[in-house]
Amino acid sequence: MIEPLDEFYKRMTHRLNQLRQERTELEEILAFYAKVLAAQQETQQETAIPEIDLPEDRLRLKVEEGFPLIDRGDFQVDKDSSRELFLRICHLSMAENPVLKGAGKILLEAMETGKLDLVKLTTAVLQDDAEVIEGVANDLDVPVPVVQALTKLSLQPSLLASVQAVAQRTAINDWQYGYCPVCGGLPAMAALVGEEGKREALCSFCGHFWQLPRLMCPFCSTDKQEDLRYFHGEGDDLYRVYVCEQCRGYLKVMDTREGGDARTLAVDDVASGHLDLLAEEEGYQRKAPRLLGI
Ligand SMILES: [Zn+2]
Ligand SMILES: [Zn+2]
Repeated sequence: MIEPLDEFYKRMTHRLNQLRQERTELEEILAFYAKVLAAQQETQQETAIPEIDLPEDRLRLKVEEGFPLIDRGDFQVDKDSSRELFLRICHLSMAENPVLKGAGKILLEAMETGKLDLVKLTTAVLQDDAEVIEGVANDLDVPVPVVQALTKLSLQPSLLASVQAVAQRTAINDWQYGYCPVCGGLPAMAALVGEEGKREALCSFCGHFWQLPRLMCPFCSTDKQEDLRYFHGEGDDLYRVYVCEQCRGYLKVMDTREGGDARTLAVDDVASGHLDLLAEEEGYQRKAPRLLGI
């Protein structure tokens, strides 16, 4: 990434509006995302995180050894603004489909009665502690992916601020791995860019972009070409699904020669949800969590 954050939100909003016009069948989910994005943008301006204490030589060493720059536990969160945003997103969810509506209502009630410890949940989502997240979700009877997604959406401004603070401090352009150089997260989706077919991945956790090594599965690192292939959705050249027979993982890839913008992949990830269903029907697995949890 490393572009000013207001520029980022502008691009995202532009892409959302474009897709809402082109793919009217997705209006419901894209309209929800547009509201969440607007709330995130407002929160971003109020988000201030403490400095992340990572000396330059330590950052350089990490990159050389193939370790991500920030350990999950070192991400800084603006607790007040992310709490406010969590409440707003729960309110927004209540105007949506029955799954989101139910989840929003239960989570708001649990916040009011003190049944939900948001700091604990936030820490679990940051550290990818599946056991705690599942515990909270089961206690409240809300689907795990929805709890995880709504919490994650409320952390987005803090995560983007952390990435912004760290990623420009050291060179990570030669990163050769399938996981994110900033946080170690898996790609949510990727974009084919330029004529040489470079693949730029969007991190499912921190939102950073990095270039994937060519001709390799980002999940299991196999480069056996006979195990890697891709297919298109019916009548749609914009999105492809790359599958790996070794680990049965898949990665959706947008061909930017057909449209779209590599920097707003999060929007296209939501808009290409039909391909997640298709890939899962074929027996492949999405390795990274879904942005909106549904
Ligand atoms: Zn990341
Ligand atoms: Zn694989």
